[in-house]
Amino acid sequence: MTSETLFSKIIRREIPATIVYEDEEVLGFKDIAPQAPVHVLFIPKNEVIPTLDDVTPGQAHLIGKLALAAAQYAREQGLAEDGYRIVMNCREHAGQTVFHIHLHLLAGAPLGHFGAPGQ
Ligand code: 5GP
Repeated sequence: MTSETLFSKIIRREIPATIVYEDEEVLGFKDIAPQAPVHVLFIPKNEVIPTLDDVTPGQAHLIGKLALAAAQYAREQGLAEDGYRIVMNCREHAGQTVFHIHLHLLAGAPLGHFGAPGQ
């Protein structure tokens, strides 16, 4: 899939971002509006998938790659022992705003419970 998104421009370095992780398939960069002391987004570099609901069985490995990239970054940053949260928002009710699949890594402080309607 080749649809253009804001994150495609970050991958191509056409708009600035603080890139903190990169491998063959995954890019990690700091969220522009952090919701925790550490807030990094991990995205697939080579294909644009709008939402988790669009992932095909053939693309399933990419979800694991995003999670492992987040876990590796958390370990390297000394965040793993205290713990962290990973989140993937899917469409309107989750508040998804960028339709280029991404995993949020939130860490660096105790995180409140979340997810109840209206919160
Ligand atoms: P979503 O709400 O779609 O799950 O997450 C999209 C995230 O992208 C938001 O947390 C938002 O702050 C972040 N974001 C939006 N535009 C930019 C940008 O231009 N640069 C960076 N680094 N993050 C962005």
